[in-house]
Amino acid sequence: MIKRLLVTLGAMLFSITVNATDSVNILVYHHVANDTPASTTISPSGFREHLQLLRDNDVTVVPLEDALAALRGNADIDLPDKAVAITFDDAYENIHTNAFPLLKEFDVPFTVFVATDPIDQNFQEMMSWDQLRDLQDWGATITNHSRDHDYMVRHSPLDDAWLQAMIDNISHAQQRLTDELGDGVPRWFAYPYGEYNESLKQALLEEDYIAFAQHSGGMNADSDWGAIPRFAAAGVYANPETLITKINSKPMPVNRTALPDMLTAETRPSVTVELTDTSDMSRSLNCFVDSAWVDAEWLDDTRFRVSAPDVLSDGRHRFNCTSQARSGSFFYWFSQPWLVQTDR
Ligand SMILES: [Zn+2]
Repeated sequence: MIKRLLVTLGAMLFSITVNATDSVNILVYHHVANDTPASTTISPSGFREHLQLLRDNDVTVVPLEDALAALRGNADIDLPDKAVAITFDDAYENIHTNAFPLLKEFDVPFTVFVATDPIDQNFQEMMSWDQLRDLQDWGATITNHSRDHDYMVRHSPLDDAWLQAMIDNISHAQQRLTDELGDGVPRWFAYPYGEYNESLKQALLEEDYIAFAQHSGGMNADSDWGAIPRFAAAGVYANPETLITKINSKPMPVNRTALPDMLTAETRPSVTVELTDTSDMSRSLNCFVDSAWVDAEWLDDTRFRVSAPDVLSDGRHRFNCTSQARSGSFFYWFSQPWLVQTDR
């Protein structure tokens, strides 16, 4: 979609043409520090590099709220081409100390997903409510990452009582956020560890939450709003080259209603992906099971299958597939998260 935008700069009036877009890529960070667990950490200098990288590549960091509103059809909000939203999970104090000054310097909006019990209990490595209000006063969005950050679906049985307990957990966190930060706290929820199952997801959607997961991929209007993908951008994923590939990617057009539940008892799970629009996709797929390349199998013109080549251990795994666009130098991205639990 090409839109004409008018931009005033001082007394001058420029008319520029930009490509408005219909998708956004969301990044997720945890720690911004030099002394925290490597897998979920980016150093302050690495984080500065990311912000500079976005600026140098004409990527616009948009408030997550605007991205969601635009994708929900709010005609007053145009998403710029190369739109990215930045999120932080867990509310570590190093976000206030190390990331916040940089976010202010680059004037970049961001969202923090907070587990409320560690804040209420004054955990040393977490922000205080006052520090979270600091971020909020500047314009950040602070929202829900559960009460206690416990695993949500590694329980048995996953019955009605379990589901009610999970909803109560999330409602408690939402109430604490509202008590401390006011009525503007949106009903957004990030699953601890990115783990969910179909019934939890459906219950959250019925409770009017928009929920975020931790598998890779962009989002658009057709995305699963009960498990929106986010690209990890720290640890091994902090590399600027791979990050820019992700930022330039678009969601692969798939029939998501045909996709399996994240939670599975299968040790060698398999997914059949139905493409809803193949017009701009090359038929050459690059698929990975965790970090190992696998051959995807085309079943017909619009369906391909990816299977785990070996037994997967209990725990989280990911299938990722990309396909080069015909229309430009970017990839279409598909991701299927798994939580393998053989004891159920
Ligand atoms: Zn977390």
